[in-house]
Amino acid sequence: MTAPTLLILPGDGIGPEVMAEVRKVISWFGNRRGLAINVEEDLVGGAAYDVHGVPLSDATMERAQNADAVLLGAVGGPKYDALDFSVKPERGLLRLRKEMDLFANLRPAQCFDALADFSSLKKEVVAGLDIVIVRELTSGIYFGEPRGIITEGNERVGINTQRYTEGEIARVARSAFELARRRSNRVCSMEKANVMESGVLWRQVVTEVHDAEYPDVELSHMYADAGAMQLCRWPKQFDVIVTDNLFGDLLSDAAAMLTGSLGMLPSASLGAPMANGRPKALYEPVHGSAPDIAGQGKANPIACVLSFAMALRYSFDAGDEATRLEQAIEKVLADGARTPDLLGPEGGTPITTVQMGDAIIAALDASL
Ligand code: NAD
Repeated sequence: MTAPTLLILPGDGIGPEVMAEVRKVISWFGNRRGLAINVEEDLVGGAAYDVHGVPLSDATMERAQNADAVLLGAVGGPKYDALDFSVKPERGLLRLRKEMDLFANLRPAQCFDALADFSSLKKEVVAGLDIVIVRELTSGIYFGEPRGIITEGNERVGINTQRYTEGEIARVARSAFELARRRSNRVCSMEKANVMESGVLWRQVVTEVHDAEYPDVELSHMYADAGAMQLCRWPKQFDVIVTDNLFGDLLSDAAAMLTGSLGMLPSASLGAPMANGRPKALYEPVHGSAPDIAGQGKANPIACVLSFAMALRYSFDAGDEATRLEQAIEKVLADGARTPDLLGPEGGTPITTVQMGDAIIAALDASL
């Protein structure tokens, strides 16, 4: 069997710094666990603009389409702020998402015990939290027509349209049910069926897909506003939450912040299954290129390393190794290793990006 291909796109700012630590982790799994991954590397964002005059070349796009998974660092930075909108670094990322048709955005909210004090909620509410929000990413109110600002009589009217087809709802529902089968087998679907027709259809289609294809998965429904309250009150009641683009935007940001630092948050965007049965996939940390700390050895590489753990689980059929990597990170944090972003008000001595990567490798060694 040929090794699967992972296309790495480090990008700009702290992207290359955190990706260098991920490369160490990938090599460790190759050398110590016999996990062969064919790693390719290319340019995205400002780094691609500097060389090609575009934030994502056609050749890189083709490599991404052919890869088993793509892992991206971050794009953007002040050097590129004045560029025309069409060639801004972020356009490279948007092109990847659009052309790979990545309709399901997975945002885990996972709380490492050692960082539970970072949460705005009480420790016992978040310690051990491990949930995933699946947000529909390519349709809904951000894309629906008609849209715009028109004039009616003597005042302006702002218009956006929430629109979902059955097919769009069914495919993201399948992504959520598939995910649940790899976790605790529970999905909670959130919409506003009480006041929105698109919510009524959402609930119907999710239920139909469930009954026909995933009867083994426990399905519940909740209005999205009640869901927001429940996420703050007792988030551990959830496992997988599936919701639309707008509600998912809000709920995933709120849920992620339950767990603390931006430097800890991974994400995945998944599309339709490929010939090998695994979905098209782009993995990336939630954070940006952090120009304020780039090049200073201050970046926390854990969000990017956890994004690779998601790739192990969802693209490379290596869920056990993903768990090994997450447990190594848990150990490193429990032992007190902290990049500057993880130091609380009481302070402490921070370690560098490279030292955090080394600590993760040492914890992986200790796991054998
Ligand atoms: P940002 O996420 O880059 O930084 C916000 C704050 O969090 C900064 O103080 C930064 O130092 C800190 N931070 C972020 N990641 C960190 C890490 N791994 N370790 C330690 N601290 C970390 O957001 P921003 O400052 O609004 O944007 C900076 C640039 O990144 C902009 O050009 C923006 O367009 C771009 N951006 C890119 C992405 C992406 O590539 N997906 C996402 C968001 C922003």
